Amino acid sequence: MSDIINILPDSVANQIAAGEVVDRPASAVKELLENAIDAGATQIQLIVKEAGRTLLQVIDNGCGMSEGDARLCFERHATSKVHTANDLFALHTMGFRGEALASIAAIAQVELKTRQQGSELGTCVVIEGSTIKSQMPEACAVGTSIAVKNLFFNVPARRNFLKKDSVELSHIEEVFRRVTLTNCERGFVFYHNGKMLYDLKPGNMAQRICQLYGEAYRERFYPVNEENDLVSVCGYVGKPEFSKKTRGEQYLFVNDRFIKHPALSAAIEKAYTDLVPDRYYPSYFLNLKVDPSRIDVNIHPTKTEVKFMDEHALFALLRAAAKKALGQFELATEIEFNPSTEIDFSPAPDGYIPHQPRVSFNPDYNPFDPPARDNTTSTPFPTSHISTSAQRAPSSYKSAVDEPSRQWENFFDTEPATESEKPQPKDPISIPVGGNCMQIQNRWIATALSSGLAVIDQQRAHERILYERLMEGPTTSRAQQLLFPVNCSFSPADAELFGELLPDLRQRGFEVNNLGKCSFIVTATPPGVKEQEMQAMFEQLLSDHKNSMLQKFGNRDQNLCRSLARQMAIKAGQPLQSNEIHQLVADLFSCKMPELSPSGQKTFVVLTSDKLTQLI
Ligand code: ADP
Ligand code: MG
Repeated sequence: MSDIINILPDSVANQIAAGEVVDRPASAVKELLENAIDAGATQIQLIVKEAGRTLLQVIDNGCGMSEGDARLCFERHATSKVHTANDLFALHTMGFRGEALASIAAIAQVELKTRQQGSELGTCVVIEGSTIKSQMPEACAVGTSIAVKNLFFNVPARRNFLKKDSVELSHIEEVFRRVTLTNCERGFVFYHNGKMLYDLKPGNMAQRICQLYGEAYRERFYPVNEENDLVSVCGYVGKPEFSKKTRGEQYLFVNDRFIKHPALSAAIEKAYTDLVPDRYYPSYFLNLKVDPSRIDVNIHPTKTEVKFMDEHALFALLRAAAKKALGQFELATEIEFNPSTEIDFSPAPDGYIPHQPRVSFNPDYNPFDPPARDNTTSTPFPTSHISTSAQRAPSSYKSAVDEPSRQWENFFDTEPATESEKPQPKDPISIPVGGNCMQIQNRWIATALSSGLAVIDQQRAHERILYERLMEGPTTSRAQQLLFPVNCSFSPADAELFGELLPDLRQRGFEVNNLGKCSFIVTATPPGVKEQEMQAMFEQLLSDHKNSMLQKFGNRDQNLCRSLARQMAIKAGQPLQSNEIHQLVADLFSCKMPELSPSGQKTFVVLTSDKLTQLI
């Protein structure tokens, strides 16, 4: 038998390695930005076209490379950062594997221009699919520019796996945030398709956070600054009230490197026990400084996982540091964030009146009146008209009552069901009989049905009501003018996305206009929106919108309305007035699909009379 084993040519081996290092444009961006940082650059530009499909370029003013190194850097295991195995435990650089440029050059057309201080001329190397096409002297600035063109040009399978531009761009933005949230002393500029998305000036972490996320973040964090023999931790932890429904804003760094470490994240979240509701997650930006000999960053090719020698001690310190920050500053009004260099001072439009608190009340409200079923502005529930079609026959939700009450707690877990997937009740539902409704533990509402007793989840029910109203289409008649317009501002990228959502929001009864740059002014909203929560509501809307774009579920209108309804709905734990309770029940049963929340969960269960007889 002849031998069948052969050694793969470098170009193929590099392509295989590239699969690990570069799976999408964002991972190439990460490698290029990290190289620029390792090169000591103080000013770094990221230029992206078509979400990285056609161009990814990083230009830095770092140390540059010699003519020889400019060729060698594209070889596999070519690195200036590690010389011996022991160096792996004394890492002060972001990169160390010597794989990134070799991988990128294997799957793209790369043009490198670089010059060292003191050299009169630089050099330009063109490499394509691991083959050097040319190397010429080049008059260029000190530092390095690497342009990666047509990523995956020779790996069509990979190219086909790329998601649409908005998704790939949001991955790139995430990488950009992870790199720029530390390295605050360096300046970064980020262009996409010729448009500047970020211009981050050198500063401190607080300023960087505001530059990335918008000025509203100035008031949302407490500083953390602790150290012991093993570690120092500094950064910011979010005020509990600004917690989010996803973990998207949890950033943990070790020696300026973004890491994922579930145990340490749990330590920080522990500090928030009893301060944030279930299934809400605090935001934080924390940088740990640890002696490199006490960590092992070498356990994952993309290096977001890190092993610590003193994990338990770190866990305790992080929790204590976060707790201290929360306790110590709980009574303070605002942390001392120095104003960022990039505050948006665009002038207010003509006639703009600064925001003042507004108190609304219904002068006609009489608690002894029968339940209101028409327009009353004092209730948190915008009123609906009970359609006669709501007069439906009794139902029997026999099994519902057997479900553990814990089912109510999974509110944010379930993937939203599409309208067609939603289970349809076998029997038509009943509507409440008489006017007897009562709130239980500020969370549920019990009401008598002709078929038995219904227990309604107030939050889910309200979400259903609001969702159907928002979905109804043009609702300008429902728009409620604000006495004092509300100003909202976002990060440049979010502002752009928000701009795209304006027509949708207008259709749902919001009157919002761009004030220029990243600020918007809201002059009217659908009823039930709390002015002081508007900024947070829109931020959540943007985050939900990005998620649904990433996961491609549902249709855009439904996703937006679901997100808005979630934000606007009354929450579990909120005490309700008797008229509000009645209104909620009436509105729920006049919905097209009262039995399910917009996320596809039951809004109520029915204890039928049969079941009651069995039980008692
Ligand atoms: P690593 O960063 O793990 O060493 P890379 O493949 O990313 O591996 O880079 C290989 C080498 O090329 C680096 O070790 C460095 O010497 C050099 N290099 C890469 N990018 C730059 C840059 N922007 N400026 C200066 N040198 C660079
Ligand atoms: Mg590198």
